Amino acid sequence: MKTTPLFSKRIVDWYDIHGRKQLPWQLNKTPYKVWISEIMLQQTQVATVIPYFNQFLARFPDVLSLANAEQDEVLHFWTGLGYYARARNLHKAAQQIRDKFNGHFPTEFQQVLDLPGIGPSTAGAILSLSLGQHHAILDGNVKRVLARHGAIAGWPGKKPVEQALWTLSHEHTPKDNVQKYNQAMMDIGATICTRSKPNCPICPVAIDCKAQLSGKQSEFPGKKPKKPLPEKVAWLLVMTYQDQVLLNKRPPAGIWGGLWCFPEFKTKKQLNEYLVQENITFDNEIELPGFRHTFSHFHLDIQPIFIAVSGQKDHRVMEQNTSLWYNLPNPQKVGLASATERVLASLRSILNEE
Ligand code: SF4
Repeated sequence: MKTTPLFSKRIVDWYDIHGRKQLPWQLNKTPYKVWISEIMLQQTQVATVIPYFNQFLARFPDVLSLANAEQDEVLHFWTGLGYYARARNLHKAAQQIRDKFNGHFPTEFQQVLDLPGIGPSTAGAILSLSLGQHHAILDGNVKRVLARHGAIAGWPGKKPVEQALWTLSHEHTPKDNVQKYNQAMMDIGATICTRSKPNCPICPVAIDCKAQLSGKQSEFPGKKPKKPLPEKVAWLLVMTYQDQVLLNKRPPAGIWGGLWCFPEFKTKKQLNEYLVQENITFDNEIELPGFRHTFSHFHLDIQPIFIAVSGQKDHRVMEQNTSLWYNLPNPQKVGLASATERVLASLRSILNEE
């Protein structure tokens, strides 16, 4: 009687034929490169990450160059990738590696796990992919494959569900070929067992996948219980002086922490009061296109107001050390929130029309 090979053998065999082996972080692999790629790949697809990874590595080729850089420059290289806490944590972690491990990426699981921004799955991925250490992983892609294959019900954000998936991940992770196995599981989750259209006919574990056998792929993993998100409003002051525009640096914690954004007000009245209080004069104001930016915990309805100022007294705001006149033709290398970039694009198109 023919028996079905072990789950892990089918995954590793699939990797030998179909797995991705030429991604930039897979060439001359080091824990540092795998670390950067794993952090960038959280919430972001491979195709988007590749150019960011290449530019980041060209500027920060090792732990020390990252640790010794200014946070502004690190955020600049992250601009557009979103979830900026990832970049701030990378920078902090690089400084800890410089100070505690002489700049050498640690190789003990617990030491890696203790670094900012690294959870158990990322620690396992770094050490297994770069050094072949035996660690299970459980990122979003792996969760989906395992939840479907084992028909594990419930939302993985709930502890018992996550625990059941970890148990499965540990059971399946092979002693040998852990690099291939972990990479293949991430690849299969990203390219075959996709969220909305799993391609079961080409999946190496379809034969005993419980979700596939019952036709219930869309039921696994369980969805997060939906709560309507609160809505907030932000009025942004887009104040230009010649070919520069005023930006403020956000406090390190909170939304867009450490990034450069337009001065923000809760109401139009507050914005107007600020202009009066600062004695800022201008001819007319233009409403740039408004838009909604959704964070994980609320919607922000953004309305940018554009004014062009002239005259010495308007320079007063420049003297605050958390403010910057951002040069539109020759932008400074600072981190910008994606909403800032979007408003800058509207501003540029208005200025180009004038
Ligand atoms: S058979 Fe289909 S649902 Fe099951 S793991 Fe493979 S792609 Fe996912």
